Amino acid sequence: MRIRETLRTGLFWAMGVSLTVAFVGSLALHGDARTLVVAGFGLPAVWMPAGVCWLAVSRVGLRRKEILLAAVAVTLYTPGLTVLGLVATRGGSAPFPSPTGVGLLFYPLILAALVVAVSHHVRGLASSVWLDCAVGSLGVASVLAILLNTVLDSTTAGPRSLATVVAVAYPMLDLLLVAAVAGIAALRDVWLGHRWGLLVAGLLIFAAVDVIVALQRSADGYEAGTPLVLGWAIGLALVAAWVDGTTHREASTRQRTRLSTGTAALTVSTLATAAGLGVLVLSSRRPVPTLAVVLASVTLLAATARTHVAFRQLVWMGDLRRQATTDLLTGLPNRRSLYIEARARLLEQLNGRQALLMLDLNRFKDVNDSLGHDAGDQLLIQVGARLGEHLRASDVLARLGGDEFAVLLEDAGRYEAVDVAIKLRAALAEPFTLVDGITVHTSASIGLALFPDHGPDLSALLRKADIAMYRAKTSGDGHHVYSGTDDAVVATRLQAAEELRTALTTDQLLLHYQPKIDLDTGEVHGVEALVRWDHPTRGLLYPGAFLSLIDESGLMPSLNRVVLAMALDQVAAWRSQGQQLTVAVNLSASSLVDADLPNDVASMLAARGLSPHVLELEITEEFLMADPERARTMLTRLRRHGVQISIDDFGARYSSLSYLRDMPIDELKLDRSFVFPMIDDARAAALVASTIAMAHSLNLRLVAEGVDTDVAYTELVRLGCAQAQGYYMCRPVSAAELDHWLNERRATDKLTVIPAILPSVALD
Ligand code: C2E
Ligand code: CA
Ligand code: CA
Repeated sequence: MRIRETLRTGLFWAMGVSLTVAFVGSLALHGDARTLVVAGFGLPAVWMPAGVCWLAVSRVGLRRKEILLAAVAVTLYTPGLTVLGLVATRGGSAPFPSPTGVGLLFYPLILAALVVAVSHHVRGLASSVWLDCAVGSLGVASVLAILLNTVLDSTTAGPRSLATVVAVAYPMLDLLLVAAVAGIAALRDVWLGHRWGLLVAGLLIFAAVDVIVALQRSADGYEAGTPLVLGWAIGLALVAAWVDGTTHREASTRQRTRLSTGTAALTVSTLATAAGLGVLVLSSRRPVPTLAVVLASVTLLAATARTHVAFRQLVWMGDLRRQATTDLLTGLPNRRSLYIEARARLLEQLNGRQALLMLDLNRFKDVNDSLGHDAGDQLLIQVGARLGEHLRASDVLARLGGDEFAVLLEDAGRYEAVDVAIKLRAALAEPFTLVDGITVHTSASIGLALFPDHGPDLSALLRKADIAMYRAKTSGDGHHVYSGTDDAVVATRLQAAEELRTALTTDQLLLHYQPKIDLDTGEVHGVEALVRWDHPTRGLLYPGAFLSLIDESGLMPSLNRVVLAMALDQVAAWRSQGQQLTVAVNLSASSLVDADLPNDVASMLAARGLSPHVLELEITEEFLMADPERARTMLTRLRRHGVQISIDDFGARYSSLSYLRDMPIDELKLDRSFVFPMIDDARAAALVASTIAMAHSLNLRLVAEGVDTDVAYTELVRLGCAQAQGYYMCRPVSAAELDHWLNERRATDKLTVIPAILPSVALD
């Protein structure tokens, strides 16, 4: 390592000193003294560049092909130079071209070295880079060809000897190499570094000497003057210094290496194209060397090819840009595109009105979870298309991500925007048919924010529309225009959701139980568990106050498990005390997607040593209708475990009775809206009577809910209803209070109903 470095420094010094001494000597001295000095110092100096190059090769190894190529090039240049030097020192006339004949190989080898060096850095962009390079080089070369006019003229005038052809070839090749370097230099910053300057300087010295020699030869006055030979030697030394320098390049300039911004390349190729054109124009006015015309024509051809490549690149970049601003799934503009468009519009229309609608599908997650992502994707595509059908061409519809869409309405105030929101919701309420024939019902919540009232830019509007959307979702209104008070409401709700999360893990939830009374015996065999939240600051909260929040926050599966655990613990406790009660637990419609539920229920029962018959699950018609197939599967699994299924709020919403025949169910709970009016409305009473009859015929147990008067109670007994539940008999109460109620009841008379008056339970 050290030896190599010492050798390298030594070589450079020796080269510098010998060349200087030889050069000064050749100018200042005469006769033998001059011969001695020039031969003694000049000839060794001719071989030193090759030494420097091979040292460089030994440093980087064969891995760097360009260094190897350059080393061979420099070495091949040396023998001819040595012969010329020897002849020159003797003052004789040198044979030309040099007898070794390999000097010309220097040019293709150096060019190859340059190509290899550049190709290290421009992989992938090759065609355009090389074309830029070619345009630059050829353009420069065509101009240089004219500058060498005299030389070329003189050679074309006289007889073409091999000597004159070679004599002209050298300077032409020198300048072509310079042109190639110029072309390359246009491409990248790093090529303009001082090391490239060394190569260019060396080549220019070559060119100068070669031009002089060529002129001398064409004038037949060639004299292998020693300063000229030393000129070549100096040129070679500079080329060697460049080769040496490039081996140090990696560490020092690799980080700086980057493709130039394109401006440099554009400038060079434009200038070169202009030069080529200039040469052609000139050729039409006065004689111009054929070579220059050929080079100029090729320059223009390369420039045309370059334009073609540039055009293709533009198209490709356009595609990229489109991709970057398009949502790949729906083909709609994406969030970024919305930002770009909105910025332009809001700036343009500082006085105009714009409205931003933010739209989110309700329960989209359920579709994804229950039908799979493919179905979810299909739904999103169709939703996008359907929304588009109801918008004007000037409105921007974008997909923000997930199931969120945004619409920017031009020239729309509050009323116009609300109008559109209503229209869009109506459009989405129509069922969607997915590819495999599945019909999906969906709905959307839309938040609206207005420009300029609610914010100066899209970010502000999106924020407000998001808050409004949240309000729309939680209030169940479907759409909502942002108002200043929303921030606080949303903040409270978000805080409540956080509190709920805590509640689920810290025993803040508790159950109240409401008995179901057998109307023919007056006995109690089962209770319904109803959840309550003992809120640390707000007191006892009823399900109406927090169930929707649980649903929204995706906490329903957790709630189900907490409630089931408490209810089953209680049943186990009752059983151990000899109380043979069953418990009914409510499942909301969103539990349909809770695929683990059946297994979890089974293991919870098993863990407590309970028979599955002690548990009944109350589901609503919504649960059944959301996705009947899935509902059937889940209910079948539950029932296979031995759990009973009851339809809650029967008759309240849907009137499709077909599921009564198909679904695996055991019990119907007649909604209280039928029971309440029964006492003073004959038609309502008739409905209850026919429902009871239907339940009997289907072999289903009928439980009447909301029985809060003795009249209703007596009437239900008369109609032959199986069970009843309601405030008249007992409100939902804590387990301890229920025990008390049951004991009192047993102590008096089972058949007599004792309305419970329990001060600890708040009226709801
Ligand atoms: P639901 O399943 O229909 O429960 C019966 C509701 O009616 C209870 O309200 C009960 O207090 C009330 N109720 C009982 N008897 C009478 C009466 O004679 N007159 C009147 N006006 N009301 C009566 P609560 O406890 O507020 O529960 C409301 C709803 O919350 C329940 O309706 C049920 O859908 C849901 N829910 C309760 N607990 C849970 C739970 O643990 N999980 C789930 N997913 N939902 C629950
Ligand atoms: Ca219920
Ligand atoms: Ca009910």
